[in-house]
Amino acid sequence: MINLKHGSLQISLLALALSLSACHDQPTSQTQATQTQTLAQTLEAEDQQAALYDQADSLWYLENERAKRLASSESAQDTLIPSTPMPKREVGDYSFTSPPVPPVSKPGQLLNLPDPGNTARFTVKGLQWPTNVGDLSISMWAKDKIAAFSLTIDDNHVQDHAFWYEMSEQYGWKWTWFLIANQIGWSSADHWGHWQKALDSGHEVQSHGQTHLCDALFYTFREYRQSQVEIERNLANAKVRTLAYPFGINTDKRGSPCEPLTSDRTKNSRAEAAKYFLAVRDVYGALNNPAKIDYLKVPSVSSSRNFLNPQAPWAYFDSVFNPASTNYRTWYVVHYHNLPTEAAKNDVRQVLAHLQEVEAKVWIAPFTQVAQYGQEYATAQMSNIQRTANTVSFQLKDQMNDAWFDQPLTLKMRLPDAWNGSLSVQQNARARPARTVVNEGKVYALFEVVPDRGLVTVAY
Ligand SMILES: [Zn+2]
Repeated sequence: MINLKHGSLQISLLALALSLSACHDQPTSQTQATQTQTLAQTLEAEDQQAALYDQADSLWYLENERAKRLASSESAQDTLIPSTPMPKREVGDYSFTSPPVPPVSKPGQLLNLPDPGNTARFTVKGLQWPTNVGDLSISMWAKDKIAAFSLTIDDNHVQDHAFWYEMSEQYGWKWTWFLIANQIGWSSADHWGHWQKALDSGHEVQSHGQTHLCDALFYTFREYRQSQVEIERNLANAKVRTLAYPFGINTDKRGSPCEPLTSDRTKNSRAEAAKYFLAVRDVYGALNNPAKIDYLKVPSVSSSRNFLNPQAPWAYFDSVFNPASTNYRTWYVVHYHNLPTEAAKNDVRQVLAHLQEVEAKVWIAPFTQVAQYGQEYATAQMSNIQRTANTVSFQLKDQMNDAWFDQPLTLKMRLPDAWNGSLSVQQNARARPARTVVNEGKVYALFEVVPDRGLVTVAY
């Protein structure tokens, strides 16, 4: 099956090479336009095919590693028996403690935003520079960056942790791992300690389903809900609030070990996901207008394919800086699986090196944080703005659930030209982070406050 996929990929690469060489024959401009379009379509179709291959290959890898461990008699013991006894129920204890229930989504306290379809939630503009002293604006992304980027990793590939930690150390960025919960804790190759370390190091640990929709007896509700509960029970400080759809929202299992499992209850459900998660990641590109992000189907580019390719507008990273592009200022999400070769690791290094070059313009943060920010921003409003000679106070409110949405928004305020250098920001009488930036000779305060957390006062 996998070799077949490799084969079809090679054939389409060959077709691509042929169509590329055909482009050198000085065609008419119309033919050229058609060919460029065909080329883009071929490339995009190939990206989708490759994304499908990535996820199937990833599951086969896990399957093969497990088989190898079972076949090795020395490690069989280690594989099947946890090294420390699990906490057990006491004799005579017949109690049941219900896991914490997620809040119910309701107007003013939404768990996630509905699909905007083709209607923009707001107008996408460049960075804002409020005109008058004391004027305020809410930044589209944290730290007033142009765009946002999140790197995510699916399917519990513990063997790559050393590499991802090394990259994180080198650049100072944090990743998001989406876990298959029922794979964890059965062997020294993938146990909860690995994921506690990821959390303790500041990375995000979120859900990729209980069984990756690979168990005929399971059904979608428990795939989502049980994985959420299990990860939170097993890890200190875990907050599982986002999901990556196993096999993508369309549950495309082709080529994977789970392909024969086709019942409806082993398929993804957007409606179910909406009850338990504030955002859900898909497995395909393409990039989209940031005002039209569907937070229950966030596009993601598999293995950052075409990240550096201007011919691939659905995946070309620098299009987020181009005001003429529909990708302008958007949230770019990538996902990886296993990194089986040094070449695969070098591809990651190349992507990260490019991000470092443009980091001044990009907010690089874990998936859940950006999903929180984006939905808070899309519904945020300032009210009750009061100004004195050297203070501004106001309320910042959004439509999102306060228990789940605690990501600070970045706000900007124009300071006087003769600013005396003093600046303090308080929310509900507690100090908040603040700094200044200069644009065209004028000074602005940049500060971070959380929606619906009380009165904000800026003193200068
Ligand atoms: Zn997966």
